[in-house]
Amino acid sequence: MWRRVVSLPPLLSSSNSRRLNQVQVAYGFNASQVFSTQAEEGVSGARRKPFVTFVLGGPGSGKGTQCTRIVNTFGFTHLNVGDLLRKEIYSDSENGSMILDTIKEGKIVSSEVTVKLIKNSIEANENSRILVDGFPRSEENRIAYERVVGVEPDIVLFFDCPKEEMVKRVLNRNEGRIDDNIDTVKERLTMFSELNLPVIKHYSKKGKLHKIDGTGTEDEIFERVLPIFAALR
Ligand code: UDP
Ligand code: MG
Repeated sequence: MWRRVVSLPPLLSSSNSRRLNQVQVAYGFNASQVFSTQAEEGVSGARRKPFVTFVLGGPGSGKGTQCTRIVNTFGFTHLNVGDLLRKEIYSDSENGSMILDTIKEGKIVSSEVTVKLIKNSIEANENSRILVDGFPRSEENRIAYERVVGVEPDIVLFFDCPKEEMVKRVLNRNEGRIDDNIDTVKERLTMFSELNLPVIKHYSKKGKLHKIDGTGTEDEIFERVLPIFAALR
């Protein structure tokens, strides 16, 4: 047993952000109370298996925004797989131009490249709790990860959001991304429906999926996320 068991009071439900802050203060949300402080090392000094959460949802569904909130409240490390790939483009990596072309087209980078980047990041990370944001994009991605890393994620979040809302958010976010244009967004949405939804279905069948209504304000959405992590013992 690598997580310390603590009991938390039932979560207040409120959509207003002042109440939300009170909830956070009430809990203290000292992440070490929810998750083990002894998770990094076992008796032998060997590193223990980290608690890995996959964060899924279409483009603009709020994955990154909510990951930042989870990091701040529960002390996770945010591993944004899109960012890992974008960094590769600007490194001397032999895969840079292939990654750039794939992202521009809204397609999916080969598992061989992506899984290696994720595995290296997880291994280099000292934190015992990790959010993997935007991966796996396909069943092929998922199977490759589970084969190479050797373990399944502990839980999977899915931010469910209507297509029109996702398109609106992506086209309004102005982050200077080459793939945040209407043509690429359409392709990313097609990829999401065809390849990512089967992954979501898989984890749902395994009982690992937490489906979250991704509509509303950031605060409202985070209130739906809070009880998932607060309930972890
Ligand atoms: N991407 C990929 N594999 C991944 C994650 C991202 O191929 O595991 C590529 C894909 O082309 C995707 C792009 O990176 O459209 C941007 O991904 P990101 O997660 O940053 O976009 P978001 O879904 O957050 O808008
Ligand atoms: Mg993102």
